[in-house]
Amino acid sequence: MLPGGAKIGRWQPVTGGRHAFDSAARNAEPGLVANALCGVEVDTDELQRIAPEIAWIREDTCMACWRVLAARQ
Ligand SMILES: [Zn+2]
Repeated sequence: MLPGGAKIGRWQPVTGGRHAFDSAARNAEPGLVANALCGVEVDTDELQRIAPEIAWIREDTCMACWRVLAARQ
């Protein structure tokens, strides 16, 4: 993992919105619950699946996650 990877986070559309996650959440065991940067709890199963393209379009970007990432830059 590049040093910048954890800083940037990665976006994933899940039920209720596009949230950003640290690599620790992305790499967590299946069947657990991980927190998005905004604190929302998401099943790791949903977090780690390959999201269908429509999910990227349908779900709104979480502005709380966006602000967390912006503050890191
Ligand atoms: Zn969020």
